[in-house]
Amino acid sequence: MSSPAIFLDRDGTIIVERNYPSHPDQVELLDAAAAGLRALAKHGFPFVVVSNQSGIGRGYFSVDEADAVEARVRELLAGEGVVIAKWYRCPHAPHEDCGCRKPLPGMIHWAVRDLDIDPSRSFVIGDKWSDVELAAAVGAVGILVTTGHGQSDADRARRLGVAVCRNLLEASEEVARQLALNNA
Ligand SMILES: [Mg+2]
Ligand SMILES: [Zn+2]
Repeated sequence: MSSPAIFLDRDGTIIVERNYPSHPDQVELLDAAAAGLRALAKHGFPFVVVSNQSGIGRGYFSVDEADAVEARVRELLAGEGVVIAKWYRCPHAPHEDCGCRKPLPGMIHWAVRDLDIDPSRSFVIGDKWSDVELAAAVGAVGILVTTGHGQSDADRARRLGVAVCRNLLEASEEVARQLALNNA
């Protein structure tokens, strides 16, 4: 049977928002990100990172540079005991009209194929409205974190009944709450 996943945005959700980070030195874990991910890991769902990296398509940095940044995130998380099951990125610029740039669900479709994920029982946690829209597009539960850019969409999210959390630690509490509701 297919399993739920926790889909995670990267920039502004796991690491400090740096606007097109292109070098490993720019990578810094957000406060409470590792603690939140460790709490989320207790549910046993795989973590899947879904990250728009249009800096590649825009020519701001190369695939190799993007790989180096991602490797640094992976290294910092590993040091905190956090393992990401799968990393996906959309490398395209908006004008390329791809199917993987969030809020389009291409990356989640890849996870369904690669990891046998059931998106309708999954969560998407991110700091942008496109992350919330991505969740809605695949029937997952979206959670907006106000780290990164999240503050600007917080009011809209609350109005529409989307959970708004201050960081991944709070988001882990929201996931636990929602899972308990579903099992009640
Ligand atoms: Mg983000
Ligand atoms: Zn794409």
